[in-house]
Amino acid sequence: MTVTERYREMDRQVREACEAAGRRREEVTLIAVSKTKPASDIRELAEAGVLDFGENYAKELVEKTEALALPLRWHFIGHLQTNKVRQVVGRAQMIHSVDSLHLGEAIGKESLRRGLETEILVEVNVGGEESKSGISPEELPDLLGSLREVPGIRVRGLMAIVPPVEEQDAARPYFEAMRRLLEEARREYPDLPLEHLSMGMTGDFRAAVREGSTMVRIGTAIFGERSYPNR
Ligand SMILES: *Cc1c(COP(=O)(O)O)cnc(C)c1O
Repeated sequence: MTVTERYREMDRQVREACEAAGRRREEVTLIAVSKTKPASDIRELAEAGVLDFGENYAKELVEKTEALALPLRWHFIGHLQTNKVRQVVGRAQMIHSVDSLHLGEAIGKESLRRGLETEILVEVNVGGEESKSGISPEELPDLLGSLREVPGIRVRGLMAIVPPVEEQDAARPYFEAMRRLLEEARREYPDLPLEHLSMGMTGDFRAAVREGSTMVRIGTAIFGERSYPNR
């Protein structure tokens, strides 16, 4: 199957997941996670009308946006170091992986310097895994309270990567916890436009859609398995 055929199949599966959850397909953005994959794959999808792509590494984001020069919507979903912020602001439509005030401030500062406002999500380590980035659920209210004061950024919601599961249903408690965290944050900060829950990958997107995901980030099911030649 071509990348476009696999994308269409995934689009169909997201539609089914929405129907099963009693949601409209338009409520969920399918982000094609193209990390480690060549620009030619992205071009093929772009020609088929796909707009939303996800990248994890600043260097790849720079290389691909420059090679493609297409009006796509890039989502930065990887761990971001403050010294890479300059490469990402202005290229990424949204940065999903903000997990400190320091990083939020760096993004805000660079955005202001360029006369922009950057949309961000706060990454939550909802599974409490040692190896994952993201803040703990307990730290979320304070971080949101601080980030909302930072000029140059707009906090639009939350992002999570949940522990790997054998079966999609096993991930549901984590996604449900994320949904609750978003609801609580909305109550606490009604002035913030908190609309998004970026959650769900190839192995768990159905469960994520069921629990209210508004952005699923799908790599493997669209582009195939990854190898990491650049790392
Ligand atoms: C790689 C990656 C994805 C895509 O994962 P797949 O399992 O290949 O669909 C989604 N989100 C993040 C943050 C990633 O790093």
